[in-house]
Amino acid sequence: METVKTAEKAAGATVAKNAKIEDSEFHEFFVDELKDIYWAEKHLAKALPKMKKASTSPELASAFEKHTTETEEHISNLEQVFELLDEKAVAKKCDAKAGLLEEADGIIADTEKGTMIRDAGLILAAQKVEHYEIATYGTLRVFAQNMGRDDIAALLTATLENEKATDEALTEIAIGSINAEAAAE
Ligand code: FE
Ligand code: FE
Repeated sequence: METVKTAEKAAGATVAKNAKIEDSEFHEFFVDELKDIYWAEKHLAKALPKMKKASTSPELASAFEKHTTETEEHISNLEQVFELLDEKAVAKKCDAKAGLLEEADGIIADTEKGTMIRDAGLILAAQKVEHYEIATYGTLRVFAQNMGRDDIAALLTATLENEKATDEALTEIAIGSINAEAAAE
């Protein structure tokens, strides 16, 4: 994915350019960003079952169910990262994810139950979430690599790869049938 590669390169460049920044200051910034994505993952874990319940197609419902379990793993990966950094796992409100989840709620409120239009909307909302996560983990793993923490980078990469796979699976479901059926409704 080209956009992700660009974001990762940009993150690497930022760190290289700011190499004079005190380690502790960068460490603090990194931990702060981890708290942000930790909040985002915890709230997504609560939102996904609602999205599953709202889905029309069983295929989409099962994709949301699968990603609920995977999101629990993302949460535990982050808890391991906090532990490796000797930091307490604390969630700090992520305004971006809160907004994206609000948008998902809005789609459920604005569409009729049992329609493919609702499913198309839910996929759109979910892919916005996944792209946000891909951008976040893409950058954070480069930060970890630049800090010489390959152990942490490996955990973040595992989550990143799963977010990318989830995004692709949602695209497959959308182009498989939902988009065409929604357009015909
Ligand atoms: Fe996630
Ligand atoms: Fe995700």
